[in-house]
Amino acid sequence: MAKTCAKPPLNLTNVIIFAGLPLAAILLVPAWGIYRGYDAFQWLWALAFLYLNGLSITGGYHRLWAHKAYQAHPALKWFFAFWGAGALQNSILIWASDHRRHHRHVDDNDLDPYSAGRGLWFSHMGWMLRNYRTNETDFSNARDLQRDPVVVWQDRHYIALTTFMNLGLPLALGWWHGDLIGTVLLVGLLRLVVNHHVTFFINSLAHYWGTRPYTESNSARDNGFLAFLTYGEGYHNYHHIFQADYRNGIRWWQWDPTKWMISLCSRVGLASDLNRVPDFKIQRAILDTQFQRARSEMEQAQDSDSLRASLEREYQLFTESINQWKMLQSERYERKKTALGDALDGHRERLGDALEERKAKLQSKWESAALRTKLRELEFSLRMQRKRLTLLMEQIQLQTAHAA
Ligand SMILES: [Zn+2]
Ligand SMILES: [Zn+2]
Repeated sequence: MAKTCAKPPLNLTNVIIFAGLPLAAILLVPAWGIYRGYDAFQWLWALAFLYLNGLSITGGYHRLWAHKAYQAHPALKWFFAFWGAGALQNSILIWASDHRRHHRHVDDNDLDPYSAGRGLWFSHMGWMLRNYRTNETDFSNARDLQRDPVVVWQDRHYIALTTFMNLGLPLALGWWHGDLIGTVLLVGLLRLVVNHHVTFFINSLAHYWGTRPYTESNSARDNGFLAFLTYGEGYHNYHHIFQADYRNGIRWWQWDPTKWMISLCSRVGLASDLNRVPDFKIQRAILDTQFQRARSEMEQAQDSDSLRASLEREYQLFTESINQWKMLQSERYERKKTALGDALDGHRERLGDALEERKAKLQSKWESAALRTKLRELEFSLRMQRKRLTLLMEQIQLQTAHAA
């Protein structure tokens, strides 16, 4: 039976931008290169623009506005608003609202605007070429952004801004350099097309290619190579489970220039309240995923009663650690509340005895140090458990191979 599925009409503006510009780049950039050639000035400026645009999308549009992973000084916000407009990926308001919907309904073909379930091409750029129903703007998830004057101003003047950043600036640079056409082609056109596609990889390839250490409940993947191309956004599996973390690559060696930029900004007073997910929660997510994997492997293994018992014992230990951690967290919360109350009381009454006061302070310091030690121990025990579970998993896999 033939299936009729009428596609929505093409979005002509987007077709020109996303099909016309790459075509122009493929034809014109090499042609001018053969005719006149490019020099280091032009290449370096193209690279600088690429990073300024890219980091404004990842650090500004994405981690600051869509996820509120930190707070930014107005100067930094304006910087992101200008250079982000230069990336030609729509205004902050539309971009962040779409992106919040992507996280909320990830992989849902009817609600996620760039659902990976609709194919690699669709999630890369197909979703922008037609007026799909999932593209209809709905700012009910972005009321906070509608109250941000920078976001509102950028949305209102978006076309003028993006024209100035993409054409005005490269023209000025070319005029200064003495080669208008070459500079516009490299810094304007080629840089724009390259930045488009590397950013789109986050929606397409980062949902297909890579590992899923933190959760298997959605298609997002961690991929170090993609992180290198996408200004650090390739650790997408981590990002989908802990979206409010200002980091995507959480290890110091993981390539994440966006996280380094935010951290640098916080050191010079341009960013604050950087959100970091506690290590325990991260370990818990990894272990949870490992347990699920081990259990489904176990179903195929034969003669595995002793392995199954070990796995269940480990799981019990895991649950106990989580419960202890929760208890410690609430204890810590209570302590903070009491400490605040005591400080206020002390301030009000100014109770005299200095020695008593000093004793109480030392006692409280000792208690919070003890609490911190317990938390560290728990984090360590989860790490050790991860190692044991990996060994157990190897045994299960051997057993499964044996059964096959
Ligand atoms: Zn995603
Ligand atoms: Zn995100």
